[in-house]
Amino acid sequence: MYGRFFVSSMNSNPSTAQAQSLISSNGSSSVDSLSVKTLKQIFKLSPIGTTILDLDGQFLSANRSFCETVGYAEDELVNRSFTYLLHPDDAPPLKELGEQLLSGERQSFELKTRYWSKPGKLLSVCVSATLLHDSRQQAICFLLQVVDLTDHKPTDLKQGEPQLRHGDFYDRLTGLSNRSLFIDKVEEVVAWVEHRGDIQCAVLLLDIDRFKVINDSLGRSVGDQMLIALGRRLKSSIRQYDTLARLGGDEFAILLEEVDGLAGTLRVCDRIHDMLKNPFKLGRYEVFASISIGVACIDTEYEHSSDLLRNADAALYHAKGQGGGGHAVFDRTMHERAVALWQMTTQAHFAVEQKELSLHYQPVINIKTGQVVAVEALIRWNHPQHGHISPSEFIPVMEETGVITLIGDWVLRTACQQIVQWHQQLGNINPIKVHVNLSARQLAQRNLARQVESTLIETRLPKDLLWLEITETAIMRNSQDGVQVLEQLKALDIGLCIDDFGIGYSSLSRLQQLPIDLLKIDRSFVQHIGSRGENTEIVRTIVDLANNLGLDIVVEGIETETQLAGVQALGCYNIQGFYFAKPMTPEATLQFIQKCNQADVNWIQSASA
Ligand code: C2E
Ligand code: CA
Ligand code: CA
Repeated sequence: MYGRFFVSSMNSNPSTAQAQSLISSNGSSSVDSLSVKTLKQIFKLSPIGTTILDLDGQFLSANRSFCETVGYAEDELVNRSFTYLLHPDDAPPLKELGEQLLSGERQSFELKTRYWSKPGKLLSVCVSATLLHDSRQQAICFLLQVVDLTDHKPTDLKQGEPQLRHGDFYDRLTGLSNRSLFIDKVEEVVAWVEHRGDIQCAVLLLDIDRFKVINDSLGRSVGDQMLIALGRRLKSSIRQYDTLARLGGDEFAILLEEVDGLAGTLRVCDRIHDMLKNPFKLGRYEVFASISIGVACIDTEYEHSSDLLRNADAALYHAKGQGGGGHAVFDRTMHERAVALWQMTTQAHFAVEQKELSLHYQPVINIKTGQVVAVEALIRWNHPQHGHISPSEFIPVMEETGVITLIGDWVLRTACQQIVQWHQQLGNINPIKVHVNLSARQLAQRNLARQVESTLIETRLPKDLLWLEITETAIMRNSQDGVQVLEQLKALDIGLCIDDFGIGYSSLSRLQQLPIDLLKIDRSFVQHIGSRGENTEIVRTIVDLANNLGLDIVVEGIETETQLAGVQALGCYNIQGFYFAKPMTPEATLQFIQKCNQADVNWIQSASA
């Protein structure tokens, strides 16, 4: 009858009734009623986790200590198979020893094994088992005593119990679990989910947006304080038995166990974003931080923690690509897309040859005159299989693969040629400038200024018509070298513009040191302008700052009349946004310029009159 011990059938056998009577309050045939009561008390109050199983391995009873160890109430266990709690890898040896008890080969045994507790922790326990018999020497039930040896360190029974140091599993700065402990726990939970099938768990990977800039501008020790403070806040937004770890740098991870599906997981994400609405007080600084979160739900298809973490990472990447401060949930297409994107971008030079890449242009309009004063060149990729891919998706990949320097070069040349061609077509209208975006990687090219100069010569674009847009983050990332390259560019007499101004962490004194001419106020600041006071104040501060430094301003992302009126009231006149025009093909842009710049009256004023 090999295997009987672990058969999970709920059919009672003759010995089950006998065993139940042994532990029931109505006494038993083998001991007098007083003894049974006493025995029951001892069983209940014993500090050693004790449980009784029938001969099929189903729980008949469990004492308080056992229930506390495994986190289940007694009635949640009764009639369930013992394997319900057992790590699947540990079933075979226990099964064999159970059979040996039944066959009389052994009287008892002791075995180290692993149990799942209700909150999903894998416990390392020592099980001592004995088979109990009635007065006629008929086996009636198993008595199991269980001692928890877990001690909050990873269990690897196969390798014995090495002396482990705290630092091997915990992050020194924050005291949280480290990467290696986290991966161990994820591995356990992946196995648990596979075993149970009905449990929902999830992994969140979290990354502070623009943390490097905080570190660079405020100093490492402030950065460290922030990581510690963030660790505390994150801890307070999860439950006690969820695992929070710092994987390294500014990357944290959370393992949510027995969560209420995707909805429950997303609620945790919302809670985390919410708790970041208050600034961190770090010494004399108050710093706002936002976090991007990548979510991967654990399902039975996962075999390894590495696959799960890779997928959470793909989701995190996606969340970052959306501009930060949000979260994304992994789905299979995301992985396929990430892989495809990676492969595609490494072949981007073919995309240029195949004319899959093109430039669209978005006008910058001076609302005082109604004329287009500049256009921003924005890259577009129409892939034969994947259709239109957003630059927010592929530019970061191109940055990583380094392809961006090649593509950036193509963008610059194409945009310059386009403007020269339009000027020839338009005749004697006010010259239009062109804004070209420059990525961090391009800024790191020491010969960038020389390349730009030769493109200007080659395309014959007057140098004062070219503007390069650089984000604060890109400048910070290149620190000293970046400033040098900016100075070389400035020496060419072209215009330099800070893009997305306000969402980075440039210290204002730093802005003063940069050879720039124009600030582009980020779209996020104008979104609520007019409806809520505080954003108006931020824009007003930026406008004052720009005026004091003698910088021009372009406001981007204007979508509504209210927003337009709001920024106009603050003295901003150069506007870019869907309200006037989306990025357009070269042909449509030319028509738009003709309509605006060859009109006799300011069409904006006449339209609103
Ligand atoms: P960006 O430089 O901040 O460009 C402005 C983005 O805002 C564009 O998105 C534009 O379509 C969008 N936009 C403009 N007005 C509005 C508006 O009123 N409402 C809304 N919701 N959006 C508006 P796009 O074209 O998808 O480009 C995204 C980003 O990709 C750009 O952000 C830029 O960082 C990058 N990018 C685009 N082309 C290039 C390029 O040639 N080189 C580099 N390095 N980056 C590029
Ligand atoms: Ca831009
Ligand atoms: Ca921008």
